[in-house]
Amino acid sequence: MIINAIKLRREVVTNMRLKVLAFLGLQVLVAAGCQPEQKYKYMWDVHDLSRPRPAVVTPANQAHGAPSDAIVLFDGEDLSQWESVGGRPAQWKVKSNYFETVPETGAISTKQAFGDCQLHIEWATPVKVEGKSQERGNSGVFLMGKYELQVLDSYENDTYPDGQAGAIYGQKPPMVNASRGPGQWQSYDIIFRRPIFKGDKLVRPATITVLQNGVLIQDHWEIKGATHHRVRARYKPHPDKLPLSLQDHDNPMRYRNIWIRKLPQ
Ligand code: MG
Repeated sequence: MIINAIKLRREVVTNMRLKVLAFLGLQVLVAAGCQPEQKYKYMWDVHDLSRPRPAVVTPANQAHGAPSDAIVLFDGEDLSQWESVGGRPAQWKVKSNYFETVPETGAISTKQAFGDCQLHIEWATPVKVEGKSQERGNSGVFLMGKYELQVLDSYENDTYPDGQAGAIYGQKPPMVNASRGPGQWQSYDIIFRRPIFKGDKLVRPATITVLQNGVLIQDHWEIKGATHHRVRARYKPHPDKLPLSLQDHDNPMRYRNIWIRKLPQ
């Protein structure tokens, strides 16, 4: 019995020593800048064959075409996916494979509401250059109808940086000016994550990544709140999904080839 008690005590002491040594080793690793192996709880084993396969999506044959799981918001034919403010039929004019803003008819919005999404949209500012700064080729892509990615003729057209093409209006200039000249078709490829609210509280701000004409101009940037002119942005709680809208800023802007993919959270 005495021998067993001695053995037990030895084991306890040994375990304690091992724990102390492990703790000290951990401190040495941290001090040396090494990260100890983290203990994540994994749902799947490495190379787990029982893991569900990603859905098959067929990419478009041509560049910038809609993949098979996209919702096509404009295919060159009509504005059936859009409406004007107040639910009236969209007032903008469909022309040859594109549509054009009709100044002073107001913004148009999608009939469907969206939250997290991947959006492709092509636009062109007027061929005839008129006005300067914010008065030249101004429109905007309003994600959830609240967060404006600026559309502007920013080719040799100086303005305030947080209002040039590719800016999150009033908040964040694009990383570079990747604008093409007046009348040329340009593209935005956008990955947007909606803000998350819990009651009145903001839990996670919206983020946005944007490529303009294939060039990265916004990199997972945290949006500060709804965009406004000369007003500091702030968040107000809103639904998880809201329509996408395009701004009428009294300039004859053109849009074409618009598609959107809903993203899982
Ligand atoms: Mg605008």
